[in-house]
Amino acid sequence: MTFNALVVEKDEESGKTSAAVKSIELDDLPEAEVLVAVDYSTVNYKDGLCLGPGGGLVRKYPHVPGIDFAGTVEQSADPRYKPGDKVVLTGWRVGEAHWGGYAQKARVKADWLVPLPEGLTTRAAMAVGTAGLTAMLAVMALEDHGLKPGHGPVLVTGAAGGVGSVATAILAHLGHEVAAVTGRPEQEDYLRGLGATQIVAREELTEVTRKPLESEQWAGCVDAVAGVMLGRVLKQMKYGCSVAAIGLAGGAAIEGALITPFILRGVNLLGIDSVMQPYDNRLRAWARIARDLPIDKLEAMVLPATLSDLPALGAAILKGQVKGRVVVDVNA
Ligand code: NDP
Repeated sequence: MTFNALVVEKDEESGKTSAAVKSIELDDLPEAEVLVAVDYSTVNYKDGLCLGPGGGLVRKYPHVPGIDFAGTVEQSADPRYKPGDKVVLTGWRVGEAHWGGYAQKARVKADWLVPLPEGLTTRAAMAVGTAGLTAMLAVMALEDHGLKPGHGPVLVTGAAGGVGSVATAILAHLGHEVAAVTGRPEQEDYLRGLGATQIVAREELTEVTRKPLESEQWAGCVDAVAGVMLGRVLKQMKYGCSVAAIGLAGGAAIEGALITPFILRGVNLLGIDSVMQPYDNRLRAWARIARDLPIDKLEAMVLPATLSDLPALGAAILKGQVKGRVVVDVNA
């Protein structure tokens, strides 16, 4: 029995990679306990890297990328899952070190799966995906460190991207004022539609300053960008408030950062990792997503796609050109 997969191959001589939809067989899939019929996958920044040569995340070719998928269990050698169960997978280096969700079938470890959260379809779960799960983990970390509605505006950087869009919608739904940083002024209506009350132009935060502190503005921040932007934002945090650092779309360093925000204002920098996140916290985050992310706002973020659209979408997300969340129907 054959099925479709988006396969990335590497030419050993030139080092160049190419990605195309191919017909593969069950025997081609890696060994693991659970076989899943995939309904939907998505495109995160990391998928962009794995669809091309970048990042060094993929060590072995041919490779099937797709760090997230949602679907239905077909076979299971693990008692936690049985045929017919709806499941979601994000992280665990699936789609990087292990074949992922850009195929009509995937075989994975039972430990990596979570049951489809009540109230979500497999399509909605992929509109959320790793980006949305990470956004929720960031919001939960800020809450655990004292963030409450009414404390002041919460800044979201890289706001029109995947993590930023979901973070904006969740925070607004929870009653926070949301200030959305974007380098795409044409996305203002989109961001206001998700609930942003203030739009901050990227250029306002792209210059390194030597000042030890700036005026206190933000009660919290979900930062997808790092680089100069995070260095500036730390100096603008209100006393005792926290930044959840989730990404590096603007660079891996924290440029221009000083110790002053930490020791004079008690600012916290909270690191968020979604890949190795323990099971119980994943369940907690998915339950909060089902409760605190309005479906109409989620739908407004969705760009539908098929397996054959993936090479172009991978290149686009690496250039910061994808708005919101891509949902890939692998059976279309
Ligand atoms: P997207 O590409 O969808 O979003 C990133 C956004 O950042 C862009 O849309 C753009 O937003 C902004 N941006 C891009 N380049 C720059 C730049 N040079 N300077 C300033 N802003 C920029 O990616 P995702 O939302 O999927 O991921 C965002 C980041 O989070 C990535 O670095 C990714 O690797 C990381 N990540 C980390 C996870 C974790 O577990 N910690 C999980 C998921 C993602 P705009 O146009 O609005 O300015």
